[in-house]
Amino acid sequence: MLFIEFSRCCERLEGLSGRLEMIDVISRELPALSADELPIFVRFVMGRIFPDWSQAQLGIGPNLLYEAIGYVAGVKKDEVVEKINVTGDVGKAVEELLAIKSQTTFFHEELDLVRVYHELMTIAAQEGKKSQREKLLSVRRLLGNAHPLEGRYLARIMLEELRIGVGEGSVRDAIAKAFNADAALVEHAMQALNDLGEVARLAKIGPEALQEVHITLFHPVRMMLAQAGTIPDMIKEHGEIAAEYKYDGSRFQFHKRGNWCRMYSRRLEDVTGALPDVIQQLLGATDHDVIIDGEVIAIKDGRPMPFQSVLRRFRRRHDVAGASVEIKLVPHVFDILYLDGETLIDLPLSERRRKLEGVVNFFIAPQVVSADQTVIEQTYRAALDAGHEGLMLKVHSSPYSPGQRGKNWIKIKPEVDTLDLAVIGAEWGEGKRAHVFGSFLVACQDQGKLIPLSRVATGFSDEQLAEVYDLLKDSVTAKSGKEVTFEPVLVFEVGYSELQVSPTYQGGFALRFPRFVRIRDDKGISEIETLESIRDRYQRQANSPQVQ
Ligand code: AMP
Repeated sequence: MLFIEFSRCCERLEGLSGRLEMIDVISRELPALSADELPIFVRFVMGRIFPDWSQAQLGIGPNLLYEAIGYVAGVKKDEVVEKINVTGDVGKAVEELLAIKSQTTFFHEELDLVRVYHELMTIAAQEGKKSQREKLLSVRRLLGNAHPLEGRYLARIMLEELRIGVGEGSVRDAIAKAFNADAALVEHAMQALNDLGEVARLAKIGPEALQEVHITLFHPVRMMLAQAGTIPDMIKEHGEIAAEYKYDGSRFQFHKRGNWCRMYSRRLEDVTGALPDVIQQLLGATDHDVIIDGEVIAIKDGRPMPFQSVLRRFRRRHDVAGASVEIKLVPHVFDILYLDGETLIDLPLSERRRKLEGVVNFFIAPQVVSADQTVIEQTYRAALDAGHEGLMLKVHSSPYSPGQRGKNWIKIKPEVDTLDLAVIGAEWGEGKRAHVFGSFLVACQDQGKLIPLSRVATGFSDEQLAEVYDLLKDSVTAKSGKEVTFEPVLVFEVGYSELQVSPTYQGGFALRFPRFVRIRDDKGISEIETLESIRDRYQRQANSPQVQ
């Protein structure tokens, strides 16, 4: 396919707004394309150059592009920038500049799709000191041979912003339509291969080729994602479910063949170099060739650290050795997508889990399987107690669906909301917390009176418990067994997942999954939540469909 034909197709698409019309236009182009051209056309029309799994990048900034445009059009870079400001679009600016220029030049080497792609691959491969100069020459060469309309799309492709409104879903449907394939099969192949270009090539071969797709090591697969939901709903719908702690860290996908491995982030960037200790831990955890999915968390003094500290580590590729000492990174592995040449994403979670446990020796995230709400809620509490973010509930029979935020993974997190409440009592802690208060009775106010609302026992670090003890030890007004009562002097911000009507406490409400958030030393007792506002919140909650 000539690049001018591709450009005309883009121009036609740019003039359309309806998705079905776009699908129709694209699907009519695909059958005539060769096996080489198909993947390139499919990626280009979505404004992408390389497969989604690929780490390749063109490495051309707008400045370099403007410089090349200026050179080819015979104008200064400033004029290029001005033209872009006037047209509001690099593509249109290039087109107009080339149109003026082409009145004086007659010689063009014809560009075709495959040649353009190879030139772009060459540009991406140029690395090192002189690479910017080499890239500039290559871009000049490409643009120098472009007709004005080709220039419009070439420039936009180089910035990976095609602006013709064609999304992945439309291209997927166009592939299905062009080759008479089942859209679900096309989608499934996309999930495994993470490259619609290759999927189109297979669709042209036939349904068997699409059916037989395999995950390839070192081609990262999109991560399966989770939706919000509730424990009772999941149990009602599925009976027995798998519950895992929800770790608050950074998602990773680890690929390993023999001793060679790479690690990818949630956005599928290669982060191997940033995490040498995690890599060593995972390499030592299995002798098999695998792709495993997990979350790495930061641990300091035995407790998980906030997500941000892990992120910093992902970003800090320098000073890696120094960073390893500061905080300990621990991977938690919860899924397996590939094992010794076999693609596992279509197996039910229960079977994947069995395989995972069979081949990975360490770092597997514990899983509780139960249809009993009490058991799952206990696991939830244990997760929060241990300082984790919440719980993940997973449907046992579900496949691994790359890139999908479906109902097969449900996340349960507390703190839809928080309340500022007075601390009016406590119970002594246990074990290593025996010398401090361990759980607290908190109250709201109603017409000048304090009304107990909940007990709060989770969400505290050891340091926070020590601090709270210091703040309250002189305010004890009564003792009875393990219980103490305080003169109200301290306000806690308390998170919860739901307000419930309850006969247990005088106010008639109780908090579900209460959790300490922080001390509000900026607030006095008179400023705590009123029973009336809690009633209002309850009403609002009752009117909203989703509470967690
Ligand atoms: P969210 O980012 O709030 O949509 O929650 C989903 C994220 O939770 C996933 O992308 C993972 O990074 C993370 N996560 C933590 N623990 C787990 C787990 N046990 N299973 C799956 N995802 C988990």
